[in-house]
Amino acid sequence: MHKLLIVGCLGVLLLTNQTATAQGGAGGVPIKSGESCPPGTTEVRPRNCRAPDVPSPSIVDYRPHSTLVTPTHLVKTAKYPAIDYHGHPGNLIGSSEGLASLGASLDSLNVRMMLSADNMSGDILRRTVEGIRASATMKNRVRILAGIDFRNVGPGWATKAIAQLEADVAAGAVGVGEISKSLGLSIKKPDGSRLKIDDPELDPIWDACARLKLPVFIHTADPEQFFHPVDYTNERWLELSLFPGRRYPQDRFPSFETVMTERDNLFRKHPKTTFVAAHMGWYANDLGRLGKLLDEMPNVYTEVGAVLYDIGRQPRGAHDFFVKYQDRILFGKDSFQPEEYPYYWRVFETGDEYFDYYRGYHAFWKLYGIDLPDGALKKIYYQNAMRLIPALPKDGFPR
Ligand SMILES: [Zn+2]
Repeated sequence: MHKLLIVGCLGVLLLTNQTATAQGGAGGVPIKSGESCPPGTTEVRPRNCRAPDVPSPSIVDYRPHSTLVTPTHLVKTAKYPAIDYHGHPGNLIGSSEGLASLGASLDSLNVRMMLSADNMSGDILRRTVEGIRASATMKNRVRILAGIDFRNVGPGWATKAIAQLEADVAAGAVGVGEISKSLGLSIKKPDGSRLKIDDPELDPIWDACARLKLPVFIHTADPEQFFHPVDYTNERWLELSLFPGRRYPQDRFPSFETVMTERDNLFRKHPKTTFVAAHMGWYANDLGRLGKLLDEMPNVYTEVGAVLYDIGRQPRGAHDFFVKYQDRILFGKDSFQPEEYPYYWRVFETGDEYFDYYRGYHAFWKLYGIDLPDGALKKIYYQNAMRLIPALPKDGFPR
């Protein structure tokens, strides 16, 4: 027996009794208000769930092609010369050939300068600075942030750490960073307890950074979802399944809120020290919270590396946030993949709509441009970094 079912304005379906009564089939599975559809089905009408009548693709195989046609503005080079405050050039800055290759990549993107946030210190820092100074073409295009060694924090640690930092500054370091997320997540004190980010034994080093006028570039925690159960409601399920090392199970790690509270205590406790919270402090999915932090603490700046997926999915809110806090945001990319920078230029500089991000596993959604005005672009691309580190070379930047 057949019966006709009117399906809204989509047309008329011919159904057999068999499919209509199958579990989740065309007849659907009713649910109560507030309930979720059973696994394998989706809500097709209010409180009525249906399963596809062919096997569903997995999350990695479903790759729909957008049919949206709107103006497209690919941006290969930044509109103004940029300073990448969050560089991880690795051994590219350890040889003249590497520096030349880095220079060619940066030229193709209009990145005028890269700060190496690879936590260098001691001999390697001194040798790297010498190599940069010896390069006729790159001597004004790379600067080094110094690392701090947080092992064995206890009596006598701060004196040694400050002496090393002073030596690194004498050798040419212009700031500190990137302080790694392991501070707060995993580094232990000699007694086996977790070294808290706001541990008083660290206070002297932050005060030394203020005295030496070194901004402290700090990465704390990771996206909040990494601290949550890896279930099908977790926005980062795919990433956490591809990279199990990014999970922070709560029986072995402190909570997101615990480390964030420690970090914000650190910022508050050292108002004369300038801090740059990497990755928009992992509050890019809650710009109201980030705004409150910046309002409360004028010594804190932030940086945009590796959170483009959150900026580009809220174009109106992000536009307003970036305009309001244009003096407090620095450009940085993190992982050095030259082909990924143009996505940043496109998000910041255009009003393009619904375009792909470069890593599907970070974000299964599309991005939108936030269309920043030129004044804000200049500050974010280079002027704010120059204000934080007045010793940065000025050649190659607009006057
Ligand atoms: Zn980094």
